[in-house]
Amino acid sequence: MASQEIEALTTALSRLPGLGPRSARRAVLWLVKRRETALVQLLAALEGVQQSLVECQTCGNVDTSDPCPICTDPRRDQRSLCVVEDVADLWALDRAHLFTGRYHVLGGRLSALDGVRPEDLTIGKLIERVSQGGIDEVVLAMNATLEGQTTAHYIAERLEAYPVRITQLAHGLPVGGELDYLDEGTLAQALRARRPVG
Ligand SMILES: [Zn+2]
Repeated sequence: MASQEIEALTTALSRLPGLGPRSARRAVLWLVKRRETALVQLLAALEGVQQSLVECQTCGNVDTSDPCPICTDPRRDQRSLCVVEDVADLWALDRAHLFTGRYHVLGGRLSALDGVRPEDLTIGKLIERVSQGGIDEVVLAMNATLEGQTTAHYIAERLEAYPVRITQLAHGLPVGGELDYLDEGTLAQALRARRPVG
């Protein structure tokens, strides 16, 4: 019989993406055996995240300030907005140092299967940002999955009424490819070769 503490931590960890109950229990036991090293480090890291990280209310990025450093950086092109599904995609694109504009994180992708509707994402907020003017180009940087592309088409339709150029990532993005997993070269190519949404 495992103690209540172990059960509680196992349950919490098994909710993490990619971790089931079995691997969560293994992680807990691994941590318990490394109390002074890994466990203490993990505690400190979790506390740091809890205390200093916030979600940017403008773009949805996660950083230590709201608005985030990307939104407040005056060297960034305010006229260009790149729409991504998740924060991890924003970080992947930004690591590549090719996109000099600002971002908008949707918080997921439309999915009939998982019951994700437009109102579950920050699409309304995106339309609001665009409708305020001052944006020339919206780059739809969705994953090359069916759901990602459905989301891109939906957004392109909603933005049709506004005087903005709408482009999307091009060749180099493998079918089924998720941005977060791409190497920087492939990502860079996809961004450079972006094309108008047809
Ligand atoms: Zn931001």
